Amino acid sequence: MKLNTICTLIGAKTDDVPDVVINWLLTDSRSLSFPAGSLFFAIETKRNDGHRYIVELYNQNLRYFVVSKILPEFNALADAVFLQVEDVMEALQHLAAVHRAFFHIPVVGITGSNGKTIVKEWLYQLLHGDYNITRSPRSYNSQIGVPLSVWGLNEGTELGIFEAGISETGEMERLQKILNPTIGIFTNLGDAHQENFVSLKQKAQEKLKLFANSETLIYNKDNKLLDIAIVQAGIQAGLFSWGSDKDAVVHVLSVDKTNDNTQISLRYKQSEFKATIPFTDDASLENAMHCIVLMLYMGIGTEEIAWRVSRLETVAMRMEVKEGIRGCLIINDSYNSDINSLSIALDFMTQQATVKNLSRTLILSDIMQSGLTSAELYRRVADLVKSKNISRLVGIGSEITKYADKFEGLDTRFYLSTEEFLKSSLFGQFQNELILLKGSRVFHFEDISARLELIAHETVLEVNLNALVDNLNYFRSKLRPETKIMSMVKAFAYGSGSVEVARTLQHHHCDYLAVAVADEGVELRREGIRIPIVVMNPEQGSFGLIFDNKLEPEIYSFRLLESFIAYAEKAGITDYPVHIKIDSGMHRLGFAPEDIDTLIERLKSQTQLKVRSVFSHLAGADEARFDDFTRRQAEVFISCADRISNAFPQYIMRHILNSSGIERFSEYQFDMVRLGIGHYGVSALPGSGLKQVCSLKTIILQIKEIKAGETVGYSRKGVVKKDSRIAILPIGYADGFDRRLGNGVGEVFINGKRAKLIGNICMDLSMVDISGIDAQEGDNVEIFGDNITVSEVASWMKTIPYEVLTGVSRRVKRVYFQE
Ligand SMILES: *Cc1c(COP(=O)(O)O)cnc(C)c1O
Repeated sequence: MKLNTICTLIGAKTDDVPDVVINWLLTDSRSLSFPAGSLFFAIETKRNDGHRYIVELYNQNLRYFVVSKILPEFNALADAVFLQVEDVMEALQHLAAVHRAFFHIPVVGITGSNGKTIVKEWLYQLLHGDYNITRSPRSYNSQIGVPLSVWGLNEGTELGIFEAGISETGEMERLQKILNPTIGIFTNLGDAHQENFVSLKQKAQEKLKLFANSETLIYNKDNKLLDIAIVQAGIQAGLFSWGSDKDAVVHVLSVDKTNDNTQISLRYKQSEFKATIPFTDDASLENAMHCIVLMLYMGIGTEEIAWRVSRLETVAMRMEVKEGIRGCLIINDSYNSDINSLSIALDFMTQQATVKNLSRTLILSDIMQSGLTSAELYRRVADLVKSKNISRLVGIGSEITKYADKFEGLDTRFYLSTEEFLKSSLFGQFQNELILLKGSRVFHFEDISARLELIAHETVLEVNLNALVDNLNYFRSKLRPETKIMSMVKAFAYGSGSVEVARTLQHHHCDYLAVAVADEGVELRREGIRIPIVVMNPEQGSFGLIFDNKLEPEIYSFRLLESFIAYAEKAGITDYPVHIKIDSGMHRLGFAPEDIDTLIERLKSQTQLKVRSVFSHLAGADEARFDDFTRRQAEVFISCADRISNAFPQYIMRHILNSSGIERFSEYQFDMVRLGIGHYGVSALPGSGLKQVCSLKTIILQIKEIKAGETVGYSRKGVVKKDSRIAILPIGYADGFDRRLGNGVGEVFINGKRAKLIGNICMDLSMVDISGIDAQEGDNVEIFGDNITVSEVASWMKTIPYEVLTGVSRRVKRVYFQE
């Protein structure tokens, strides 16, 4: 779209719009690929403000911005064009709605509490042979995600499939205007994101607004609440229901589960037919039924439908980073391959690529069904790839090979099949590379990842980077926009792995990091972390490392101060930034209030160090019974900080709040806060909505039937009272699985049920009683995660969540993923 057309459409105020075409809408400054044809929307949310990133984007050659205010610093951006509107989000949404209106094609809109992304991806699997499909990338279903998805509709699109998700009232009307689906699918109604709705019924009514103009609505009639809500909402769309309810349009006659598939018999318009779905869980069954019904609606024959659903494949919902052979790092994105998700995967790669000595390699298969001509498609792919600093490209498939010339300038190799690539000499040459695997499923890239990844120990700690960022943003929402955040990544980032976590936090604009000792900071610097890092316990022997790596020490005593000044003097260093710790009542490290005058005097008499911040630590911010004490601590801190600030010309930052302090005492946020355990989903407030970040998982190694009267494990502690099934797990106290959890104290989660530990936990193994649980050898076991929280495990151990998280030993492999 021409920039001046956009300008008119969104009703922007501006004098002078150059004659340029905009191809890309940008809302996240970190995703910039094509400065020349991109328009940035500076969206303000509760948590962040896009206007902050305009100067940075300008420096990366972007020139076109939709803004709601002109900040003083924009005056220096000579040739930037600002389209000024009242509400930037509304402008983006309106633009997308206008774009959508150009297309007179069927558009499927999917909403509901669960299954939106799977249904969308399965419809794509089932229908991409019939139509050129444009669909939402990944789970782009928000107020920003939906407009960006719809913008992907192009001349070639024959069918649109988009998902829409809401978390509060009023949002769906906006999404309806943008998507205007002709066909609706309501997947189901559960209590996900319930916090902002009064009742399930109200939530159903809200979501139904998506279908205000739809011709048809597909839903499960067995969901009574939904069924009633649909009738009450007076939906105009034709209702295309399914279910065991005999009034359903598609009547489910029977459902038979076997070990690895489910057979369903259905009746539609007098005729009966059967379909076999290669899954056995109820959620998959429900998702598949929505797809079957949509295909019936589209006039596809029942035999053809049965054949297609029998070939449905699992949808990989996440990108994983794993250690590979010969120093490689492997990002496995087996999500469907299309240009949008390629772009997202490349951004994820950029985020991981701060590691200095890894060059970037992309292994990419043919991209199926984009709605563009192949020449145009691969031209765009090549532009995208070149903009992301990829040094080596391996193309697999006949199509991408045909357009090899588009990738000129890169180190490229092309192969017709995955097999040919695996046999090639190139395969043995990967070394110290960050490798992104992005393949359509027919190319079976899992064969490549299987050979590139290092074998993982069966017990792993999975770290959900999305959840980490969501939690960071939850705490941000409690703060003023200008308050800085120092992320405490001491103790291996509370056990989750400092480097990967620090990299993610840096990417999401956290301002400072803090570690316990210099070595931890050195490792972060070695891995390319550039933001300031504070060392809380700068030991005598580590001063050299501290200066060399630009780490900023905490100074808590006169003894430390003197030795630091002496070292800096010898090294010829001046004005080195330090952070002064005040003991306001915790009585751990720090200067006492009565030390402050002497401290000021000493600091004034030297030039080696310069105070950057003054801080203190709260002893009981998480407990209401200490609130008076907490306020007294804050007062002591303020008076000390005032005295120090008044003594020096430079601005000196202040900070006192830890995680629970942020939640309960935001009035003391000052210039910065120090976030620790909160990153990992532990909150001082009930119902905070924080997400679990770390999941400790293992598998069942062996299953035994043990007779009553026998015992299990060392010291014959695990007495079997009645005949039982016992599962043996490859996790023990050497992995950090605390021995106090043995003998029935702790539980683990297997296939939807809890199982109690039996007997003593051993060094490398432990045993659980799985009587009554449908489980097999090789099945997954959760020690803590989505079903058993870290706090629950801590309560069994009679300790705090901090100890559970930091106790997971280093030999347990950390696996990072992003949804
Ligand atoms: C660990 C630590 C924090 C973070 O505390 P949480 O309770 O984990 O948020 C903050 N400040 C200091 C000085 C710390 O040592």
